[in-house]
Parts: sequence; C-alpha cells; structure tokens
Amino acid sequence: MEQKTGFIYDESYFWHDTGNGALFLPPGGWIEADEHGESPKSKRRVKNLLERTGFIEELKVMKPRSATKEEVERNHNPSYVEKVKALSDADGGDAGELAVVGRGSYEIALLSVGGAITGVDAVMEGTVQNVYALTRPPGHHAEKELGMGFCLFNNVAIAAHHAREKYGLKRILILDWDVHHGNGTENAFYDDPEILTISIHQELNFPPNRGYAEHLGEGAGEGYNVNIPLPAGTGNAGYYYALEKVVFPIAEQFKPELIIVAAGQDASVFDPLSRMLVTADGYGKIAALVKELAKKLCDGRLVVCHEGGYSAAYVPFCSLRIIESLSGLKSKVTDDPYYEAIKSLPTDVLAKHQVEAIEKVIEIQSSFWTFTINA
Ligand SMILES: [Zn+2]
Repeated sequence: MEQKTGFIYDESYFWHDTGNGALFLPPGGWIEADEHGESPKSKRRVKNLLERTGFIEELKVMKPRSATKEEVERNHNPSYVEKVKALSDADGGDAGELAVVGRGSYEIALLSVGGAITGVDAVMEGTVQNVYALTRPPGHHAEKELGMGFCLFNNVAIAAHHAREKYGLKRILILDWDVHHGNGTENAFYDDPEILTISIHQELNFPPNRGYAEHLGEGAGEGYNVNIPLPAGTGNAGYYYALEKVVFPIAEQFKPELIIVAAGQDASVFDPLSRMLVTADGYGKIAALVKELAKKLCDGRLVVCHEGGYSAAYVPFCSLRIIESLSGLKSKVTDDPYYEAIKSLPTDVLAKHQVEAIEKVIEIQSSFWTFTINA
C-alpha cells in the first residue's frame, strides 16, 4: 500500500498579521480599512475543510520545524534577513514592495520556510509518498534582497537549496503554477543549471514587466528558466495543454530527482487578483498530472507548497482537490459546490490564442529542449 500524503501546517501560519489593508493597499486616503487580501482566511479554511470532511484522517499531519537563519541566508542577503527581523521585532512595516511584515512575522516566516524544508525531508526520507505544505507567509515573489507581493522569504527556493545541500541532488525542478510570475525563484536560480524553474502565469499581471517567455536564464543557467505566460481568461484546458506540450517534455529531458511545486490557487475562477478560469476540479487534474510526472521521473518525490489564492470561499476546494490527487483518495466532497455558478464559463475550452501563446514558448525554448510538434 502506498504511504500517506503528508500535510504540514502550524497554527502560527494563521497568525502572520498583514493588517487592515484592502486587497493589497494599506488603509488611508480613500481606502477604507478592510481585511488585507493576503489574510489568514483562505488558508485557515483549507485546514478547516480537511477537518470538517474528515479527509485530514487520510493524511499524515506533520508539524514544521523553524528554518535556521543560515538556511534562509542560502537564498537571501543577510542584510535583508536582518531587515525583516527588525521590522518584525518593532511594529511591522513593508520589507520591500507590498511585503507586509507584522509583529512577530519573522518567526512565522522561518516556520513557513521550515514547512517546505520539513516537506523535502519527509519526501526524501520516504516517510510519506508526497507532501502538501500550507506555508504562510507565501514565498515565490521574495527575491534575494527584496520582499515582494506578500512574500518575505522564498520557501520553495530555500527548500531546493536544502535538498541540494543535504541530499546532494543535482537536478531539482521547481514548477510554479501560482497565477503570478515566480520572480523570486527565477531570481534565485537564474544562472543555476541544477535548479530548473518553470513558471506558468497570467501574462503581464504581477510583478510588472516580469515573466516574459524570452527570459531564459543566464550563464550556465541559460535554458534552465522557463516562463509560460498565458493570456487572461485561460482555464483548465489551457493549463493542461501547457503542461503536456511544454512542461512535461522539458521535465523528461531534465530528469529531476525531486519536484517542488509553488502552488498558488489564485488562477481560480473566483480569484480577485487574477483573471483566469481554473476550477477546483481543474486544480485536481493539474496536481494528478504532476504527480504522474513525479512518479515517472523521480519515484514520486513531490513537495507542494501553498503560495497565493485570495478567494477565501473557493481556495479550500481547490486545495482539497489537489490534496486528493496527491493522496490518490477521494473526499466526501463529490461535487464542486460552486458548479452551478461556473458551469457556463469556458473553463475547459482551449482557445486559439491560448494555443498560440504556448506555441510561442515552444518556439523560444526549442533552442534548448526538443519538442514533438503535432496536433
Ligand atoms: Zn499569486
């Protein structure tokens, strides 16, 4: 029998205080105070849904350890780490661009990084078949010297450093399906051929002027940075197509020893910070496809770390479907409760302009990788 899927979280993840902004802006001027867009709510509701459905019993619940400063500094400049700590020890502030630090956020961020590291250890040591870590604060926008987009420390990048350092891995794939570009992870490994970074995102969303398909990596890392910008309105069908036509052929040639996913559920049809059409079932299938890839290429070694996702109502169902796919089991939630509201949307239609966007990536990437062009 297959081992359980690991589920990693800590109550502290929900105590990282992003304040009373509205969406991503601080209150003041014409902005009435509200709940910040990156509030604990969506992630707490993931855990709540797992408990309410009883599905958490099917998982191996694991507590994260804290990352050490040394581990964080494998990816971040010490002066930046110190800056986050100083803000956290005082009354909070911004660690860069829209990177909210609350009182005590530094320790919680270390625990969030530690969740990704704990996930790597569990998968590498084979105590679970794969892992879903409910990491918060998120990490994929955090660059070496700059917090950005609600991210303080780059969880997945530091986890990849850890995997390389501790287990001597030579080829790690970081797949980022958050709807925003994984600029922090790109920044971490841009000249590094051992860590292949692939980001699938809504084109020209966030950060500004990043995530172009032409950004290929540099030096020894040239060809090991893959950006797949998709047009607004892309749904499940476009994501499956991008996986099948671009991600899988590249991964099969790269032959990763471990796959880490920066899993943002903010490409969902209800997300306020994007314009995409992925459904909960779509996320489930995306995760199932990636699980198959991991089985084929690296004995199933797969660590999924939660990034964005701002529809508190819908994210829990997206994450539930992902976790079901990772475990190979089904929960009691047989149907998407929001199905009536989404059934008439073109979530499963592959539009011509979406195919063209993906073909453009293939054309650019074909200097480095081989693709089979067909229908
Ligand atoms: Zn995002």
